[in-house]
Amino acid sequence: MSKKQDKKHQQQAAEPSLDFSKALIYTPAPESSAHIRLKKQYDLFINGTWVKPSKGGYFETINPSTEQVLAKVAEGTQEDVDKAVKAARAAYENVWSKMPARERAKYIYRIARLIQERAREFAVIESMDGGKPIRESRDIDIPLAANHFFYYAGWADKLEYAFPGKNPESIGVAGQIIPWNFPLLMAAWKIAPALAAGNTVVLKPAESTPLTALKLAEIIEESGLPAGVVNIVTGAGATGAAIVNHPDIDKIAFTGSTDVGKLIQKAIAGTGKKLTLELGGKAANIIFEDAALDQAVEGIVNGIFFNQGHVCCAGSRLFVQEGVADKVIRKLKDRMASLIVGDPMDKNTDIGAINSPEQLKKINEYLKIGVNEGGEVFQPNCSIPSKGYFCKPTLFLNTSQSHRVVQEEIFGPVLAVQTFRTVEEVIEKANNTPYGLSAGVWTDKGSKIFNMTTKLKAGVVWANTYNKFDPSSPFGGFRESGFGREGGLHGLLPYLNLR
Ligand code: NAP
Ligand code: MG
Repeated sequence: MSKKQDKKHQQQAAEPSLDFSKALIYTPAPESSAHIRLKKQYDLFINGTWVKPSKGGYFETINPSTEQVLAKVAEGTQEDVDKAVKAARAAYENVWSKMPARERAKYIYRIARLIQERAREFAVIESMDGGKPIRESRDIDIPLAANHFFYYAGWADKLEYAFPGKNPESIGVAGQIIPWNFPLLMAAWKIAPALAAGNTVVLKPAESTPLTALKLAEIIEESGLPAGVVNIVTGAGATGAAIVNHPDIDKIAFTGSTDVGKLIQKAIAGTGKKLTLELGGKAANIIFEDAALDQAVEGIVNGIFFNQGHVCCAGSRLFVQEGVADKVIRKLKDRMASLIVGDPMDKNTDIGAINSPEQLKKINEYLKIGVNEGGEVFQPNCSIPSKGYFCKPTLFLNTSQSHRVVQEEIFGPVLAVQTFRTVEEVIEKANNTPYGLSAGVWTDKGSKIFNMTTKLKAGVVWANTYNKFDPSSPFGGFRESGFGREGGLHGLLPYLNLR
């Protein structure tokens, strides 16, 4: 060996082994919040103007990563909901249902353009109010919300082409209730198809994340949308119930927990109101031995740990084929060690803040339950901020079908892992859940993908990818995950009568 070669050889030998936790130390890269405009107090957006809540109540919305109060928000009462429904009814009868569809489309386009123009402000407020990493609100939530308005604007004057041979008619006033995990995106999923189909809206955002819906109200005001076409009424569960129970609402669209979905279904039974329910999930991600393992591990991590597991379609159950189980779990642990948990405003952050103290409490209870059930727990040795609500990404190994961490929706960064041998076994195990929202399949074989997609009882099955959304693709579940579809042509159907 020459001297030069020998030196190179020595350098290679001296290279440290890969330790992700030490190798990836980034300098913080926080997004600025200097450009955002938040009022100290928000009223209700009813009939195109801002009105005080009838009982004068306001509640605080906090930043879950700092525990600081961001703004006070009006507590809408039954009386306020009634005002909003009356405004929506008048706007429907007198203006919106009479307006040529191509004119309606222009307003919806305008809302999409205004969201795009103010995307940065929306992204920052979404991360501050809800705790999700800025990377996600900037690259996923806000662009997708704008795209939903663009997509449905395109359909507004083409409804008879969407449903050939039918005579699509709007249905009237839609009451819409949304959760805290994708606040602006869920508002877009609800409002855009309703308006395109010619309906008017009363929407209630979640109590812990009302700010981007209120910013959307500002945009709606700016767009010149006729007064009363969209009304935003903030408040807690009681405000949502007042919408559900209002006699002059024609359709309820709800996204949230299965428990509340069941209450709503009971409440409107026999009233003739149309209903769509987008509820919880316990998705299976399935890795076969022939899969591209690094890609699969990245997809698993993306599916459960990003956005803190606050995703209805989160891949919270992992099934790995036995032959590659050790390898996959090792790779998964290595990747988890490189995840950065912390400030949602930092562009390097992978896992932001848990949305509320109540949600963190619920997740921590499940961590105890998982240990008591005999699951082997793994958490990387990462640091988490001392203030705010944070949770380390967590694996439960050696779990079985009967474990509660395998059966119940945790809605946190917690992944329950099981192994399997045959295709039949994994289909049976994956379908053994009350839910049926989504699933993921990782394999090199197209035939296996087609076999799995037809047998898995889930509304969406992703293959060799996960959590991919597009306004033109319908999304929704089976069984306790609800019914009805949002997105795509299917997403127009709940807002139309077809004759
Ligand atoms: P949640 O407690 O059911 O709340 C959802 C919304 O309903 C909130 O605006 C809530 O107000 C309101 N609400 C509460 N009680 C009500 C009642 N009795 N009548 C009418 N409205 C009522 O759900 P969450 O905890 O906010 O959200 C997490 C759940 O949503 C998870 O189960 C998740 O899987 C599901 N989700 C499903 C999808 C999907 O597309 N399938 C998408 C996202 C989330 P408050 O905020 O004041 O409680
Ligand atoms: Mg908040």
